[in-house]
Amino acid sequence: MDDEATIRNRENLVSTREDAAHLREDSATLREDSATLREDSATLREDSAHLREGTVQAREGETHIREQTVAKRERKIREAETSKAASDDQMIRLQQVNARLVTATIEAKTLAEQVQAAKDQLDHLAHHDMLTDLPNRVLLQDRLGQAIDLASRQGKQLAVMFMDLDRFKHINDSLGHVVGDHLLQSVAQRLVGCVRHSDTVSRQGGDEFVLLLPYIEHAEDAALSAQKIIAMLAPPHRIDAHDLHISISIGISIYPDDGKDAETLLTSADIAMFHAKESGRNNYKFFEKEMTAQAVERQFIESGLRRALARQEFLLHYQPKINLCSGAIVGVEALIRWQHPERGLLLPAEFVPIAEDCGLILPIGRWVLREACLQARAWQDAGLPPITIAVNTSALEFRARDFLKDMRAILEETRLEPRYLVLELTESVLMRDAESTDAVLHALAYLGVKLAVDDFGTGYSSLSYLSKFPIDTLKIDQSFINRMGSSPNDASIVRAMISLGKNLKQRVLAEGIETQEQNAFLLAQQCDEGQGDYFSHPVVAMEIARLLTNGIPEGLSNNPG
Ligand code: C2E
Ligand code: MG
Ligand code: MG
Repeated sequence: MDDEATIRNRENLVSTREDAAHLREDSATLREDSATLREDSATLREDSAHLREGTVQAREGETHIREQTVAKRERKIREAETSKAASDDQMIRLQQVNARLVTATIEAKTLAEQVQAAKDQLDHLAHHDMLTDLPNRVLLQDRLGQAIDLASRQGKQLAVMFMDLDRFKHINDSLGHVVGDHLLQSVAQRLVGCVRHSDTVSRQGGDEFVLLLPYIEHAEDAALSAQKIIAMLAPPHRIDAHDLHISISIGISIYPDDGKDAETLLTSADIAMFHAKESGRNNYKFFEKEMTAQAVERQFIESGLRRALARQEFLLHYQPKINLCSGAIVGVEALIRWQHPERGLLLPAEFVPIAEDCGLILPIGRWVLREACLQARAWQDAGLPPITIAVNTSALEFRARDFLKDMRAILEETRLEPRYLVLELTESVLMRDAESTDAVLHALAYLGVKLAVDDFGTGYSSLSYLSKFPIDTLKIDQSFINRMGSSPNDASIVRAMISLGKNLKQRVLAEGIETQEQNAFLLAQQCDEGQGDYFSHPVVAMEIARLLTNGIPEGLSNNPG
C-alpha cells in the first residue's frame, strides 16, 4: 500500500509538478499576452498619434495649398502689375531712345558740318599763308603748274615775279616782329590791290612774295606790273603809330624762255630779284642767262659761311692807327678774314655783304667783337701799352634788339674796359632812323664805349645830327686821301673835313694813307690820326705786339708789308 500510496503520491507529485509547469507556462503565456497587449496598446497609441499628426498634416497641407494658391494669385496680380509697369517703362525708354536718336542725328549732322568746315579750313590752311591769307608756296606751285600746261598748249607766254622787301630785316630787328608782321599784312593788301583777278599773289615766307601772271602777250606786260607794284608800295604804311617806308625788289622770269617748269622759272625770277637788289633795290630786273653763274657763286659763299663759324675759319687781322704827331700806335682796327678751305684767305669784300644779306653777320659780328676784346685784353695783360681796339659794326648788328645787351656781356666776360673799345659805324647806319640811333649811341657812350664814323664823306650826314651824336672820331674815307694828291678839290674837301671835325670837338683820322706825301699833307692840316699801308698793313696779333714794343719802323712806306 505504501507503494501504491507512494506511487500515487509520486504520480500526484508528478501531476502537481506538471500542473505547476502548466501553470508556469500559462502564467508565462499570460505574461506574454499581457506584454503583447501592452505593445498593442502602445502601437494603438502611436497609431492614434500618427493619425492625429496625419490629420494635422493634412490640415496643414490644405492650408499650405490654400496659401500657395493665394500666393500664386498674388504673384499673378503682381506679375500683371509689373508687366504693365514694364511696358510703361519700355514706352518711356523707347521715347527717350527716340529722342536721343533725333538729337544724335542732329548732332551727327552738325558734327559732319563741323568736320567738313574743319576739313575746308585745313585745306585752306594747307594752301594759304597764316599771316596774310595769301596763297602759299604749295598753292602757287599748283597754279603755276596749271598755267604752264595751258600756256604750252596755247603757245603763249607767262611771267613769274619774285619779290623781296628791301631791308625788311631792319624793321623787324629794330621795331619788333609784331610791327614787322603788320607791315607784311599791309604790303600783302597793296599787292592784291594792284593785280588782276586771274593773277596769283602768293607769300613764299619771310618777306618774299611771288606774283604769277598767267596771261601775258609780251614781256613788257610784266614790266608794267612791276612798275605798278613799286609805285603802289611807295607811300608810307601806317603801322602802330609808325609811318613805315618800305620798297621792294622784283625779279622777273618768262615762260618758256627762262624755264620750262615751275621750279626753274621760280629760281630764274629769284636770281633776277637778287640782281635788282644789287643794283640799288626798289627796282625790277628781267632774268638773263649770265646771272646764273653769279647766283651759283653767291650760293657757294653763303653755304660756306654757314659752316665757317663752327669750323673756326675766321680770323682777325689788326691795322694800327697812328698818332700823326708822335708816330705812336694809339689803337688798332680789327678786320675780319676768312681762311676758306678751298680758296685760301678771303677779304671782307668777298663775304661780308653776303653775310649781311642773309643775316649771318649777327653771329659773325658777335664773334669778331668777342675775339677783338679778348685780344685787346691779352695785349694789356702782356704788359703792352694800352691801346683802343676798333670793331666794324654792320647796320643789322647795330639795329639788332640785343646789341647793347650782347655788348655789355662781352665786355664783362672779357674784362676789357669799355673806353678801349671803339665801334666803327658808317654814315648810312648812323643817319637812318636818326632818332633811335641817337638813343643807342647815347647808351653806348654812357657805357663808356667810343664811337667812330667810318668811311666819312661817302654817305650823307646831317650836320645837326653829327653834332648831336656822341661821336669821338671821324674817319675820312680813303678815296679822298687817295685822290688828294691829284685833285685839288679832294684836297680842299679833306681840309674841310678836318676843320669840321675839330669844330665838332671830334678827333679826325685819315684812312688809307699810302705815301709820305699824303702823310705830310695831313700832318700839316693837323689831322690827328692816320691809318694805312704807309704805316702798316693789317697784320696778325703777334705782329701788333711786336710793333707795340718796337714802334713802327722807318721807311715802311717804301716797302709795305
Ligand atoms: P673799313 O672799315 O673802311 O676798313 C679799312 C679797309 O681799308 C680795310 O680793308 C683795310 O685793309 C683797307 N686799307 C687799309 N689801309 C689801306 C691802304 O693804305 N690802301 C688801301 N687801298 N686799303 C687800305 P678790308 O680789311 O678789306 O676791309 C674792308 C671792309 O670790310 C672794311 O672797311 C669794313 O667795312 C669791312 N669789314 C672788315 N672787317 C669787318 C668786320 O669784322 N665786320 C664788319 N661788319 N665789317 C668788316
Ligand atoms: Mg672800319
Ligand atoms: Mg673805312
